Amino acid sequence: MVFFRFTCTSCGKATEEEALRCPLCDEPMDVEADLPSSFPPVKPKETLMERFRDFFPFADPRSDLSLGEGFTPLVDMEALGRSFGLSSLWAKNEGANPTWSFKDRGTLTGVIHAMEMGYDRIGTVSTGNMAASVAAYGARAGIETVVLVNKGLPREKLGPIAMYGPRLIKVDGDYGRLYHESLRIGKKLGIYFINSDAPFRVIGSKTISYEIWEQLNRSVPDWVVVPVSAGGNLRGIVQGFVDLVSMGLLNRLPRFLVVQAEGCSPIVKAFEEGAEKVRRFDSPHTVAHAIENPFPPSGNQVLRLVRANGWSCKAVSEDSIIEAQRALAFNGLFVQPASAVALAGLKKAMADGTVEQGQSAALILTGAGLKYTAVFGQHDLSWTQCSLDKLEKALR
Ligand SMILES: *Cc1c(COP(=O)(O)O)cnc(C)c1O
Ligand SMILES: [Zn+2]
Repeated sequence: MVFFRFTCTSCGKATEEEALRCPLCDEPMDVEADLPSSFPPVKPKETLMERFRDFFPFADPRSDLSLGEGFTPLVDMEALGRSFGLSSLWAKNEGANPTWSFKDRGTLTGVIHAMEMGYDRIGTVSTGNMAASVAAYGARAGIETVVLVNKGLPREKLGPIAMYGPRLIKVDGDYGRLYHESLRIGKKLGIYFINSDAPFRVIGSKTISYEIWEQLNRSVPDWVVVPVSAGGNLRGIVQGFVDLVSMGLLNRLPRFLVVQAEGCSPIVKAFEEGAEKVRRFDSPHTVAHAIENPFPPSGNQVLRLVRANGWSCKAVSEDSIIEAQRALAFNGLFVQPASAVALAGLKKAMADGTVEQGQSAALILTGAGLKYTAVFGQHDLSWTQCSLDKLEKALR
């Protein structure tokens, strides 16, 4: 029997019963489990959950469910970092995951947990990366997978989800209510919904921190920059570094820079207004679709973490997102706009002195550029043409 429990991120209430949100204060729950006494060395051919099996409360690391997630490169962006006056700039390229976003880490942990709990159906409510990821792992596990999207989702976004063969349902109705209904119906019918900040999805992101710490030779950068929507990924990454501190492997946490697009920035707004709680953001609109959640379920917890630790939040403009996407591509990494938001935020934080010259930073590049090709229209892309006969002259 593997021990774990759920604890409330706000009031601390602990329970061993499956809980997405606290029964007392309605805030998100963390998964608490024992940590190993030392950090495992890399062994060839291990899957992510085999590698970190002692960090996770699973009876079996289920290598049969792995699609090769994790082990993503931490790319040294030396020239780009130097141009900003940073001592080092790193990019954790999560687009290198099986479905091209970091979501695969948390989907795997969510699916393993669901199956260990005896579920044979899983589901998610999502319009993009989470939907594709859950559909892929559901296919891998050979279990029925329900993906609920809103009725308006365009064809080009349905294809990459439908390809994995889930039960994909366009639901006509309020999207916010759909999230809550999915949990109610799931509980009743025995479908385990892995939504944006489900506790067992959140812990998957801890592996991002373990990897960064190891890739930097058992150290961390001054800043970790994270594009935030629901807040689950940020919570997981923070927890991962907290684990390393608890294990005595790290003296103190890196500082976090939470970044949102101005067009949908409920957390930054609450931070700047000094509000205690995040409120629904009116008429969200941004090119960074993957982080367009107007009412983030883990928003209050992100706010608490940022305030308690003296970290920072920035909202960035549409133009700066496009510019950052280009800057990353010009340095060889084509990421989706939601990921470019991290670089735009870092730039802004350097301009106002939040991040200082000579410091080091790691960008979490959450997803790959080919996820969203409609953005080509917003870049001034050009090419030339010439006849074969004139090619040599043209290249001279
Ligand atoms: C899901 C997602 C995010 C946001 O993560 P949250 O856990 O919702 O905060 C950022 N970037 C990409 C590419 C994503 O798919
Ligand atoms: Zn609580």
